[in-house]
Amino acid sequence: MARKTKDMSIRRMLIISFVVIAFTLMSLLTGLWIYTEITRTNREKDMVIETTLAKQKDKLKERVENVLALIRTMRIECDEQPVELIQESILQWLASLRFEYGGYYFVNKPDGTALVFDGERVDGQMNILDMKDPNGKRLFDIEIEAYLSDNGRFMTYLFKRINTDNPEPKISYMKGFRDWNWIIGAGNYVEDYSAEIDRMNSELRQNLRSKILRIGGVFIFFSILLVLFAHFGANLINNQIRKLNKYLKLLLNNSEEATKENYLVKEFNTFADTFSSLISGKNQAEMELAEALKKAEQSANLKTAFVNNISHEVRTPLNAIVGFSNLLFENDLDPEKKKQYIEIINESADHLLNMLNEILYISKHESSDGILLTLSEFALPDLLMDVRNLFDPQCLLKGINIISIENPESTENMLVTDRGKLLQIMNSLVSNAIKFTHTGRIKIGFEMSSQACLFFVDDSGIGIPEEEHEKIFDRFYQVDHSLQKNYRGVGLGLNITRKLVEMLGGKIWVKSKPGEGSTFYFTIPLKDLPDIEN
Ligand code: ADP
Repeated sequence: MARKTKDMSIRRMLIISFVVIAFTLMSLLTGLWIYTEITRTNREKDMVIETTLAKQKDKLKERVENVLALIRTMRIECDEQPVELIQESILQWLASLRFEYGGYYFVNKPDGTALVFDGERVDGQMNILDMKDPNGKRLFDIEIEAYLSDNGRFMTYLFKRINTDNPEPKISYMKGFRDWNWIIGAGNYVEDYSAEIDRMNSELRQNLRSKILRIGGVFIFFSILLVLFAHFGANLINNQIRKLNKYLKLLLNNSEEATKENYLVKEFNTFADTFSSLISGKNQAEMELAEALKKAEQSANLKTAFVNNISHEVRTPLNAIVGFSNLLFENDLDPEKKKQYIEIINESADHLLNMLNEILYISKHESSDGILLTLSEFALPDLLMDVRNLFDPQCLLKGINIISIENPESTENMLVTDRGKLLQIMNSLVSNAIKFTHTGRIKIGFEMSSQACLFFVDDSGIGIPEEEHEKIFDRFYQVDHSLQKNYRGVGLGLNITRKLVEMLGGKIWVKSKPGEGSTFYFTIPLKDLPDIEN
């Protein structure tokens, strides 16, 4: 079974990939940050015990030093008092003092006599050396060391609390005061620090918690920023793709609105250019194909039209020729009739010849792409005279005049073009003018301007309705004159004439009103004879 593929918009895809990558990176960074904070806190926790102990040691030392300083001061301040009194009051005072973590002072003599022991004044009642407790003895050894040197000593040992029998870890500091033969010490219990250590540890934990919370806050803040940024980025790219898509669609539809924009993504620009050149190539090919198709259709149409229009047109004069030439064989034909029949045969043959010439010309023009022009420079009055000479007899027969309008003062009457084709154009227009004019005159002439020579063939004939002015130049088109008279013709003359004018680089048009005659105008652009290469 074919697996169904889910399609996803590029915008969604971009957002998802960006968010996934960014979240992974951020999670890694945040994890690393939290890990560093936890290790730091653990390190600090380990140090808490050490620093607390060090702090307590400092305090114990300070207490002993303070007592020594006080003794020295009292000795000076109370020098009139007996020394035993001062000593006693100091010992009493020290025995009464208690400080943090079960702390109290003790005073011994170097011979082991205890003066203050377990926070009590014990003069002469006990000797440390008599004690069985090995810690007490070890302590005394250190006391002697401290007494003998000028510096104090610390000692960590197990010692029972006042009023208890359980030995517990204790730290003491002791220093000798040799003037009075005293060793003064202060100590307290390490167990009691653990509350302090716990407090500091929980402070550290609290700190870590709030730091993690803050890191979480930063993570959330950056996550929101990232999502917004991903949206913004994806929208930007999406818009670019949409614009590109619209442009490509317009290009495909050959719309004039297709304008290429400058896309942010470089590859989009390259893609748009490649697509555009592809489309223009395709359009060019399509245009060429359409042109070829049009030509093929025209040629096919021409053939169909030939069969439809011409077969009838050809048959009429041919029937006349065959019919009237048979009649010529009749023996008792009077000369007048005979002349009339011959005229009809002649006229029909002329018509047939004209028609065949026109059809042959059109077919030749269809099949060959370029017809070569034979350029020459010649005088226009001579050309007009040739036209007049050709049509004078016909006009004479119809009782109309053919006049050529020339400006005798104008010296600009030379033209460079294909004379034969120009004559063909004039002949075709004049022959139409004669055909459609029954009384009056036909004027032919030209006017020179700086750009072109404007020719005209003006008649006083039946005229052409306005709506037919364009159509008469189409192939096989004839104005319906059936109400007035049936004019001979195929409707190809003006089409050929227009082709010839265009071939010479000009334009042709007509001005006419029914009953008021017609004027056909056409232009031939002025040009110089090309240089003939040796
Ligand atoms: P044809 O003359 O063989 O019918 P043309 O192409 O020469 O074909 O002319 C097309 C049509 O234009 C003619 O049938 C006629 O109706 C109209 N026409 C052309 N010349 C004139 C003119 N001088 N006066 C009136 N009608 C004209």
